[in-house]
Order: sequence, then C-alpha cells, then structure tokens
Amino acid sequence: MKSLELVIPAGNPEKLHTAILYGADAVYIGMEGFSLRARQAEFAPEHIADGVQRAHQYGIKVYAALNIFARNQDLKNLPPALEILNEAGVDAIILSDPGVLRTIRKSGIEIPVHLSTQANTTNVEAVRFWGEQGVRRIVLARELSLDEVAEIAAAVPEMEVELFVHGAMCMAYSGRCFLSAFRTGRSSNYGDCTHPCRWEHVLLEKTRPTEPLILEEDQRYSYLLSSKDLCMIEYLPDIQKAGVTGLKVEGRMKSVYYLAVVTRTYRQALNELQKKPGQFIARPEWLAELGMISNRGYTTGFYFQRESMINEVSPQVKYYQTHDLVGTVLDYEPHAARILVGVRNQLTEEDRLELLLPDATIPLDPGQMTDDNNYKVKSAHNGYRIYFPVHRNVPVGAVIRRQITGSC
Ligand code: SF4
Repeated sequence: MKSLELVIPAGNPEKLHTAILYGADAVYIGMEGFSLRARQAEFAPEHIADGVQRAHQYGIKVYAALNIFARNQDLKNLPPALEILNEAGVDAIILSDPGVLRTIRKSGIEIPVHLSTQANTTNVEAVRFWGEQGVRRIVLARELSLDEVAEIAAAVPEMEVELFVHGAMCMAYSGRCFLSAFRTGRSSNYGDCTHPCRWEHVLLEKTRPTEPLILEEDQRYSYLLSSKDLCMIEYLPDIQKAGVTGLKVEGRMKSVYYLAVVTRTYRQALNELQKKPGQFIARPEWLAELGMISNRGYTTGFYFQRESMINEVSPQVKYYQTHDLVGTVLDYEPHAARILVGVRNQLTEEDRLELLLPDATIPLDPGQMTDDNNYKVKSAHNGYRIYFPVHRNVPVGAVIRRQITGSC
C-alpha cells in the first residue's frame, strides 16, 4: 500500500514553521497574487526561497499553489513568478487553470505539477487527460465518494491521488461560487472569499417584506448554506486502501493554533497507522483534540455518500471551540529551565493553560508567570513577553493554548 503524505497549509513563514514542528510531510504555500488564498495567507516572493530551504532541511516538501482562474493579465505576470518558484526549488506547483499549465510549459521550467481540487476532477478519463498533459498528482474533487476515489486510483496507478481530509467545506462545488463576489466584491475564485454562506440568512417573499419565511433553524442563524467541517481521522485506513497518496488539510487562513493541533493529531494517527496497519482505531483523545479547535461540528463529507450529513449543523452553535491561542514560545533557556513566550491574547492567572509540544501536552501554571526582571505578573496582554518555568527542552514556535471560559 502507498504511504500517506500529510500535506499541511502554510499560509506564511510562521505557519510553515508550525507545520514543520508538529509533523507535516509536505506543505502548500500561496504566492502573492497567484493562489486561492489572498492577503495574509500568502508568501511574499522574497520569503519563498528561505521557506523552501527551511522545509527541505527537515525533509519536507513544498508545493506552491498557483490555482487562480487566470485572466490574460495574470498569465502575463506568471513567468517572473515561475522563475522565483523554480529558483527557490519548490517541489511542485498546484494549479487549476489549463492556461497556467500551458504558460509553465512554454516557460521551459520543469517543475512537477499537481492539479488543484478547484479543477473539479471527478472521473477516470479526466485524470487520464490531465496525466497526458504531464500532471503528476490530482487533488480529486471533494464531492466524490471513497469508492469512486478507489476506482480512479486503481485505473490510473501511474498518477498520484490526493484528497482533502480535514477542514472547512464549501457548499459550492469545490469552491466555485460567486456568493462572496456578489455580496462583498471579494471573489472566492481569487481566494478572497468572505464566507457569506456562513452569515445569517432569512428568505423574504417580495410582497410580504415584513414576514420572513421560516427557513432558518433557529432565531439567530440559517444553516441552509453552511456546512460542517470535514474530518476523516477515523477513516485513514479506508483512505489508504483507496490508493491515495496525499492527505490534504484545508486552512491557509487558519491560526497557528489550528495548524499545531491538526498537524500533531493527524501525525500521531498516521504514525499509529504505520505501526499497526491492521489494527488502527482512532483514539478518543485525537477526536477530543480536534474538538478543541474552531469547528462547526465534523462530517465525513461525501466520502461515504451521505450528502445529507453535510448540512446537519446544530442549531445550538455557530462554532464549537473550547480553546484558543494565547502565545507561542520565542525561546527556551535551559540554564533557567524556563520558556519565553510571546503573548498573543490577554491572559490572567486564572486561566487554564497548556503548552503543546510535538509529543506531549504540558499544563502551565499562570501563577508562575514572570517578567524580564523575574517579578511575578498577574496578567499579560498581546505583545507582552513573559516567562514560564518548564523542565524540559521546548522548541521555538511551540503553541500555548487556553481553555475558553465556560467550556469544559
Ligand atoms: S461563500 Fe461559502 S460556498 Fe461560496 S466559496 Fe465561500 S465558503 Fe464556499
């Protein structure tokens, strides 16, 4: 059976570091102006070479997403971007537009190409077609069942198949949607979706504007357009059996806390799958961990052909989230057995804090927070630098989370 590659979103250099630290096999990055995740989720061109070099030091591959639906002007801007990616040594380019593929071929640059899920590849002949164009890996449409995935993978063993296994789902077909462009002028097809499908909606009949039709599930929120999040951690053996190579996590816009938890949890699960291939059972603590990051309840999406499950969002909540990020480790001082933390959020001595290491979770006592002068501090704010005693080596970039008041 093929070994599985955990492909983690790395929206910026810090997130790349997080992905490396917590166990990614590969990362995908966006380049300013050419990916489907705009603004803060892209690498500036001058940071790409450093990022690639750093990932390669750890044996981690870097895939660059150029998966916009390009206009003519975009194609004109492409050659210099390709040069940058080629010189940086990225391991593949992820694209969805045949025009981008043709521009790469015309440039003479020899970089492996992956086809983005945005290309909506749903059948064997489409995979063969893209294979004939020199595409090496296909990120199949999220709308396929696992049986269809297995049929495709078996029919084209020379191609690599990748699937999304975790993260937000679109109610549009693999993200092809104009809702955001219509409502806010920011287009999902340029990676700039504002997620209006998750806003509150009611349906008004034109002649009765004061009588909204009851299509919302409660007074606050309509769930008709809003999906649960995908989570396939319990089904990794099924995915492996289906002949999949890449396991992709959604979320280049998400926080380093989200990345740390998802990467670490899937890493643990994949290690277990590798050690005990015939006896894999998802551990309750993995599911509990994935419940500690922002989510809207989890679903297996279309993989088991239970489409109705996708939209079953509980009317009780918009998001579930029991913990949030309060800081990251800036330094470990072995002589003083303490960590220096860059605070990202307000925290007090009443908070319940945990330090996430790649192989362990350690409680931190906020009553022992100290400042540069070793004085105790009762609270800290975004931008503060504080110390906690920790009696083991801690990597820079490790994440500290806090239980959100009221959650259990
Ligand atoms: S508005 Fe919703 S359905 Fe449309 S692209 Fe954005 S996330 Fe997807």
